[in-house]
Amino acid sequence: MQHTNTDFTALRTRMVKRDIAGRGIHDQFVLAAMSEVPRERFVPDRFRESAYDDAPLPIPGGQTISQPYIVGLMIAALGLQGGERVLDVGTGSGYAAAVLSRIADHVYTIERHGSLTETAVLRFSELGYDNISARHGDGRLGWPEFAPYDAIVVAAATSTVPDALLQQLRVGGRLVIPVGDSAQQTLLNIERVTSDRFKRRQLEAVRFVPLV
Ligand code: SAH
Repeated sequence: MQHTNTDFTALRTRMVKRDIAGRGIHDQFVLAAMSEVPRERFVPDRFRESAYDDAPLPIPGGQTISQPYIVGLMIAALGLQGGERVLDVGTGSGYAAAVLSRIADHVYTIERHGSLTETAVLRFSELGYDNISARHGDGRLGWPEFAPYDAIVVAAATSTVPDALLQQLRVGGRLVIPVGDSAQQTLLNIERVTSDRFKRRQLEAVRFVPLV
């Protein structure tokens, strides 16, 4: 479905060069995946022309699709090499899950707004991204059936890291999550070093919608 003559491929290439690689993200898997996934298909029609601005955009349900740089930063922090099982909490538009699916073996994604899950599932199938499982539910509980995960990424902010997510992380795996209050959060990269030891590193100050 092409609404305009906009050359989205050229805009996507420019975005990856300028806003992702140009801001210090050099992970080749992330750059390749973000060069492939058509972000214009994950934003409401009226924002298509802005799909490659380095900005968050509104999506239904009062939610947002994250800024491309932040998606790149979070996924790069997971250190994926290909072949992993990844849990994505906060499907939203489905864009981050789509990018993850180009790198990982399988992506499990959870969203609390059922209508967003439905739209995302439709997008995945239109794009032929058949290694993503999506469900409507509370992501704070994780998705125990398919645990442990090699990596978990959370796109909504919380004051404390949900224990279920820590428990569903494989030893050696990483969880990237924004932690803080509604005004200010820090992106944390938490590695499960042993079954009961977690190493936390701070990435950047960020602003996400709340995990509720
Ligand atoms: N990764 C998304 C970003 C969406 S914003 C994208 O690429 O578009 C974060 C999303 O988290 C919102 O859609 C919000 O509804 C969802 N969310 C908030 N709390 C949640 C919870 N407890 N469980 C699952 N999803 C949640």
